[in-house]
Amino acid sequence: MREETKCIESGYTPKNGEPRMIPIIQSTTFKYDTSEDMGKLFDLQASGYFYSRLQNPTTDFVAAKIAALEGGTAAMLTGSGQAASFYSVFNIAGAGDHVVASSTIYGGTYNLFHVTMRRMGIEFTFVDPDCSDEELEAAFRPNTKAVFGETIANPALIVFDIERFAKAAHAHGVPLIVDNTFATPINCRPFEWGADIVTHSTTKYMDGHDATVGGVIVDSGNFDWKAHADKFPGLTTPDESYHGITYADQFGQGGAYITKCVAQLMRDLGAVQSPMNAYMLNLGLESLAVRMQRHCENAMKIAQYLEKNENVSWVNYPGLPGNKYYERAKKYMPEGTCGVISFGVKGGRSAAETFMKHLRLAIIATHVADAHTCVLHPASSTHRQLTDEELVAGGVAPDLVRLSVGLENADDLIEDLEQALASI
Ligand SMILES: *Cc1c(COP(=O)(O)O)cnc(C)c1O
Repeated sequence: MREETKCIESGYTPKNGEPRMIPIIQSTTFKYDTSEDMGKLFDLQASGYFYSRLQNPTTDFVAAKIAALEGGTAAMLTGSGQAASFYSVFNIAGAGDHVVASSTIYGGTYNLFHVTMRRMGIEFTFVDPDCSDEELEAAFRPNTKAVFGETIANPALIVFDIERFAKAAHAHGVPLIVDNTFATPINCRPFEWGADIVTHSTTKYMDGHDATVGGVIVDSGNFDWKAHADKFPGLTTPDESYHGITYADQFGQGGAYITKCVAQLMRDLGAVQSPMNAYMLNLGLESLAVRMQRHCENAMKIAQYLEKNENVSWVNYPGLPGNKYYERAKKYMPEGTCGVISFGVKGGRSAAETFMKHLRLAIIATHVADAHTCVLHPASSTHRQLTDEELVAGGVAPDLVRLSVGLENADDLIEDLEQALASI
């Protein structure tokens, strides 16, 4: 099946007389006839359900659909994208370990790594995603356990060189984890370029309608944990907290990582996605392919319009010919990139504020990547306490406006931008 078909058909196949739509199994618990039946589930000797903190049929159907879309062997939903990022690393790295991460990842992920996970004893080295081979090589340590990057960085819109980072990670015997939120599997499938684990904030395009916060982790099944057994004892030696199971032996290369992540991290940390939210996420997934196409078409038209507007000083959109990442985007995302654009308003901070005030259709929100066009001027909202000099040092220009292009008619959006820009 191709991606458009998988959006509709994968993950759940009703049997004779069963509901066509993924059923919402809104139940915390599941009933068994004998204690032995349930015991087998607890020992992971049989597959099935006993408690929805660990697994639930509705969330599993949706996770299986996303695994199919990414071309992976196993997947699990999480309560948020943050939980997915955290679990994806913490599943294979603990106190005393080290991780190499791209420096331009989403701010929330950066804080999670740089502040919270550092307090747990994990060290991170952040590298410029366009650094030299020598710099990248120098970032690795004997205790490095993973490399982490973002397909299209939010909000910098830098395209990550997945193939290059995968080669570097594998040369050091560790997996590459890629946050594929902005591109979605419709536009990029990181596993085809060597990534081993993919994460998403499903809150963004996958849900696509501002309805549910969620995340997902997908395993490619390609990383050979046993070949690097000394680095990953959690997967290759018995788990005493789970009846002495060795995940890599019992669940194989395609199942070990996700099974461990559910059995240990979901058990102990509990950031589950509810069946109701998973049901709504699935509604978003069914139209993901058609929506992504429209998001990209609209964003391209608007980026081209902005480039020609005299009140706009610069436009950053990786789909735009002439963009620094255009060639790399064409390689990894030949069908399109995403719907997010950033641009500069001539006249700096105050001109940008005037522009924002006059928008009628585009709403002011910190959110991105959904059906409604939304816009953010960091210098007058999220970053308003900083001076112009501090903003520049932090990589956020005072005139920078981030525009997440939705699914409205592009001409309506252009008319809105036109009158707001004319007001400056
Ligand atoms: C929003 C976002 C996250 C965090 O996801 P939440 O669902 O908000 O927890 C992680 N990565 C990227 C790229 C994001 O845009």
